[in-house]
Amino acid sequence: MLSLAKTVSDSDNYVMISALQHYAYCPRQCALIHIEKVWDENLYTLRGQRVHAIVDTPGDELIEGVRVERAMPLWSHQLGITGIADVVEFLADGTPYPVEYKSGSRKAKDADSIQLCAQALCLEEMLGCTLSVGAIFHHGSRRRREVRFDAELRSLTLQTIEGTRSLFVAAKLPAPVADSRCKDCSLIDACMPHAIDGFRRAAGGNNPFKVEADL
Ligand code: SF4
Repeated sequence: MLSLAKTVSDSDNYVMISALQHYAYCPRQCALIHIEKVWDENLYTLRGQRVHAIVDTPGDELIEGVRVERAMPLWSHQLGITGIADVVEFLADGTPYPVEYKSGSRKAKDADSIQLCAQALCLEEMLGCTLSVGAIFHHGSRRRREVRFDAELRSLTLQTIEGTRSLFVAAKLPAPVADSRCKDCSLIDACMPHAIDGFRRAAGGNNPFKVEADL
């Protein structure tokens, strides 16, 4: 089994798989959403809601020999993560194939692949199988991008789980990344990344407004 795996006995400490995607994109975004409970809509989040309306209703059907399960609950007791898969296809031999629906294009740092890999790790534990591939369905282009669950992505996913859990335990707001990710982020108004980054630089890297204070 995975070297970094450990059993998480306290269900309150389970990390939502969606939070892993937020953390991989930007730790500050993850903290704003999951600790401070800040959420702002923008074009991307509204598109995302529309796309997920397609797959958020639980149910299953058989399509050309493939059983398609929608809104499937997932968990890993070993890794302490839980969430819902948009779609899991069960191939003719029973192999699960998770598909995550996204409204936009591929994200910086490939946060979507980490989210999908976390789903695969849950399915492996739940069903006692090994998954080698899944897919991200980009609604805009109507195309699937196949994702291989190789050793590098698995390792990155485990690091992301550990990082996200540590963030929640510390309950501190990380400094803004203040880079190209911010222009697509729905939290840019609440976050004020460039203003805060400017103050930090002016203060020689220190934080005059105690941005990393306990929440
Ligand atoms: S605006 Fe930038 S720094 Fe702030 S949460 Fe979004 S991506 Fe992170």
